[in-house]
Amino acid sequence: MCMDHTFKCACGASEVSINFKNEILPPETLVALYCPKCSKNVAFDSSSMVQDNGWIIEYDMEVASLMANSMPAEHLRNLSPSVIFEEDYCSWRGLYPGDHVDSLKEREAILAIAKVNPKKYLEEIKSWANKRMERLKSEGWRKAHERVAV
Ligand SMILES: [Zn+2]
Repeated sequence: MCMDHTFKCACGASEVSINFKNEILPPETLVALYCPKCSKNVAFDSSSMVQDNGWIIEYDMEVASLMANSMPAEHLRNLSPSVIFEEDYCSWRGLYPGDHVDSLKEREAILAIAKVNPKKYLEEIKSWANKRMERLKSEGWRKAHERVAV
């Protein structure tokens, strides 16, 4: 089960849905969220922060290490902001901030084709998924680089 929580960035311009995989880490793990606008004023500290395409997430690593007991041993051993982010313990819901909203809309449009032409639908959804990953990779989103498929 994955709990969803919405967080506002420091300047208040953006609201982002954050996924906590298996609810291992509590929402308190996320100390601060910075959008590309407000991240400019942040001194990046890799011991507690991750960067993704101009966005910064700051973690409370003390909370994270206290609560990390039920993670697989390899994650527990190497617990770092990157592991928390890349393994979805406290990360974007989807591949980038707002992904689940965009991809739902895009999928709905393609789904409409399924009723009329199921074969075309399969082609469309496949090419949509591929194009989407290519686009996200070229935009520089971390999770698009790390994952082969959605
Ligand atoms: Zn902001």
